[in-house]
Amino acid sequence: MTRAIQICQHGGPEELQLVDMPVGAPGPGEVRIRHHAIGLNFIDVYHRTGLYPLKMPAGIGMEAAGVIEAVGEGVTHLRPGDRAAYASNPPGSYCEARVMPAMNVCRLPDAIDFETGAAMMLKGLTAQYLLLKTRPVEGLQPGDHVLFHAAAGGVGLIACQWARALGLQLIATAGSAEKCQLALDNGAAHAINYRSEDFAARVKEITEGRGVKVVYDSVGKDTWDKSLDCLRPLGLMASFGNASGPVPPFAPGILGAKGSLYVTRQTLFSHITSRASTQAMADALFDVVASGQVKIHIAQRYPLEQVQQAHRDLEARKTTGSTILTLA
Ligand code: NDP
Repeated sequence: MTRAIQICQHGGPEELQLVDMPVGAPGPGEVRIRHHAIGLNFIDVYHRTGLYPLKMPAGIGMEAAGVIEAVGEGVTHLRPGDRAAYASNPPGSYCEARVMPAMNVCRLPDAIDFETGAAMMLKGLTAQYLLLKTRPVEGLQPGDHVLFHAAAGGVGLIACQWARALGLQLIATAGSAEKCQLALDNGAAHAINYRSEDFAARVKEITEGRGVKVVYDSVGKDTWDKSLDCLRPLGLMASFGNASGPVPPFAPGILGAKGSLYVTRQTLFSHITSRASTQAMADALFDVVASGQVKIHIAQRYPLEQVQQAHRDLEARKTTGSTILTLA
């Protein structure tokens, strides 16, 4: 048996209920993992509210780290006793133990502890594919400006540090002076409080009128229009989230009018579609974390039983960096 968080219908944090459920043996291509720590992500909110609908009853959570207890037929990259971490579908990581597909589960290097592993897989792989694989048509060179919204959050603080390591001039936005300072402390070249300043005007000032080559936008509805104004001609709008709500439909003509812009809507799970692609990306992430180029800031910890409060705080913009759910 395992304690797990389940929802029986979409709704508010009160729908997150602690239940006991059996954990079986892994089938072909699956592993059973016992978690030591669980990562909290904003996508868990979308799953809970139904913005990304789930079949009920549903587990929640896509990130965790722990120890492999058993492997199913055909799983060759993991053995019982291995330390492991993952960002994976289907949702269901808010639990002590689970059976799940092995494809996205990776061995965790000894240099990385369980909490760090749980706090960095979904967020770190996302920062990685955004900065390294989601590139404008004219390429990105050291010294280029990019704009990264919600830069003091989980994905954001990793992106600030990774961008610095790549030599990019990352312009951060965040929702308070403290959050802006945090982004600067973690490698952002500039920071804008987008709740009190016109971020498009400030980006134009910082870039001396030129604009940035890429906007990485996970805020969605509230930042979309002005983000397009921050781009230079042929720039790339990389949308990857909807913390403020989904981006409304728009007419493509606007992209021509604003400088032949490119738009993409990215999701991590298009980048980790095989064991090989997952491992290659995980190895690159493990390298930057183990070498200290990217530090994972775990700024909040909640026991699994307090997951409702964790969701409330995340949605109320009270968190910074990564948040983990702990297990007794
Ligand atoms: P964060 O820790 O970044 O939390 C979300 C942040 O968004 C808040 O802290 C807040 O920062 C900002 N925000 C702006 N407007 C709102 C609003 N109306 N309500 C709530 N928050 C708001 O979360 P994560 O690191 O888990 O994820 C960051 C984003 O990246 C999310 O949108 C997530 O869905 C997306 N994502 C997308 C992936 C993909 O592959 N497509 C994969 C992983 C994450 P502030 O106060 O500074 O504005």
